[in-house]
Amino acid sequence: MGRSVSLGSVVLAICALVALVSAPPTAQSAADASFLVVNARVFDGDRLLEGTDVAVESGIIRAVGRDLTGWQRLALIDGANSTIMPGLIDAHAHVVTVADPRQALQFGVTTVLDLGAANAPQAQVFGVRQAARVATDMAEVFSAGFLASTRRPADSTRPVVTSVDEAVRFADARRADGADYLKLQLNGARSASLGDPNMSEAIAGALVARAHANGMKAIAHVETLADVDVALAAGVDGLAHVWRRGGANADIARRITERGVFVIATLAIPDGFLQGRSRLRDDPRFQGRLSAPLLDHLTRPFTAPLAGNSFEDLRANYTAHREGVQGLVQAGATLLVGTDASAAATPAAHGISIHREIELLTEAGLSPLQVLRAATSTTADVFSLPDRGRIVVGRRADLVMVRGNPIDDITATRDIVRVWRAGVALR
Ligand SMILES: [Zn+2]
Repeated sequence: MGRSVSLGSVVLAICALVALVSAPPTAQSAADASFLVVNARVFDGDRLLEGTDVAVESGIIRAVGRDLTGWQRLALIDGANSTIMPGLIDAHAHVVTVADPRQALQFGVTTVLDLGAANAPQAQVFGVRQAARVATDMAEVFSAGFLASTRRPADSTRPVVTSVDEAVRFADARRADGADYLKLQLNGARSASLGDPNMSEAIAGALVARAHANGMKAIAHVETLADVDVALAAGVDGLAHVWRRGGANADIARRITERGVFVIATLAIPDGFLQGRSRLRDDPRFQGRLSAPLLDHLTRPFTAPLAGNSFEDLRANYTAHREGVQGLVQAGATLLVGTDASAAATPAAHGISIHREIELLTEAGLSPLQVLRAATSTTADVFSLPDRGRIVVGRRADLVMVRGNPIDDITATRDIVRVWRAGVALR
C-alpha cells in the first residue's frame, strides 16, 4: 500500500520547519490531524522515554521512537523541554451539559467517565455523550446513565431500586438504554446522619450480578467501611470514594487488593472544602484557562453536610480520607484518578481538579509514575478502552504536551502547552 504525499503537506512541512527554527511550537492543520512531535520526553502510559518523536497521521499514532526521519513530511512540532503524555482520563465525574466536557478538555482531560446521573435526566447526559463523540473541542464522554439508589431527590424522576426484582429490571434498563457501565450507591454515612435508607446486600448483589450478566462493569459509591463490605460481597468491580472513618485499615485494604477491585479515591472532594480550590485558582499556570463560571466554582463557598463545617471537622474529614488511601497504596491496590467533578453539586470542577487529585494522590504515597499511569493507561485497561490511554502505534492521538517533567515535579501536569483530541489540537 503506497502513501501519497500531497504538495500541501510538503508546503506545510516546510513552513513548519521554518517555524520550528524561529518560533516553536508550530501551528498544525486541525483538519489534517497529522503532525510529528520531535525530540520530546514521552510518558507513553507506562514509562518515560527521553528524546523521542511521535508521529500522528489522521488522528492516529503511527510511530513512536528516536529520529523518525521517515515522517518529517508532517508538520513538525518541537518537543524540547516538554513532556508528551496520553490525554488524561477522569474516572469519576458527573456531566450535565456540553460545557462540562468542553471545560475538561481545556485542562488536558480527553476522556470523562460520567458515574451516574443523580439529578439530571439520563437522556440529557446521553445527549452530551453523543455531542462529545463528534465534537473536537470536548473530552469524549462515557456514562452510567441513571445511578441505582434506594431513594431519589424529590424533583427527580429517576427509578429507585428497593427490591431484588427492581434491581434486575434497573440493570436491564441501563443496558437497553445504552449505559456504558452500572453505578450503584451505598450511603452508610447519609443513612446514619440523614436517615436515608441504605441499599441491602441482596439488592446490591442482584444489581452487580445482572450488570455482569449484561456485560457491564459495576461501580459502587461507598461512604463507610460497612458499605465497602457490602460492595465486596456484591462483587463490584470498583469503588467510588473511600470510607470516611476507619483509617488506613490494612484488613479491608488487603481484601480490596486481593479481589482486584479498583478504587477511585476522589481526594479532591474533601480537599475541595479546604484550600484545594483556591490552590488551583491561584496557580499562575492556569491563568488564561479560567472562565467566569469556573472562577466562580473555585471561589464560592461549599458546605459539607456529612463532615461538619468547622475547619477542624473538614481537616479531620480530609485526613480520614487520606489515611484510607494510604492504606490502599500500602496494600498495592489499583487506584484510579477521578475527581467527582460536577458543575454545581461538588467542590471539584471539570478538568482542572484532576491536577489537584493527581497531586494529592502523590502526597498519599503514589509515585509520580504510578499516578500518571493511573490517570491514563490503568483506567483505559480497567474500563476496556483499548483505543486510548497509551502513546503506542495504532491508538488515538489523545495527547497533552506540558512544559517540564512531571516525574520530577508532578504539578508540571498543569503547565499545559497543547492538548490534542484524536490528533486535533485544541485552540
Ligand atoms: Zn460522584
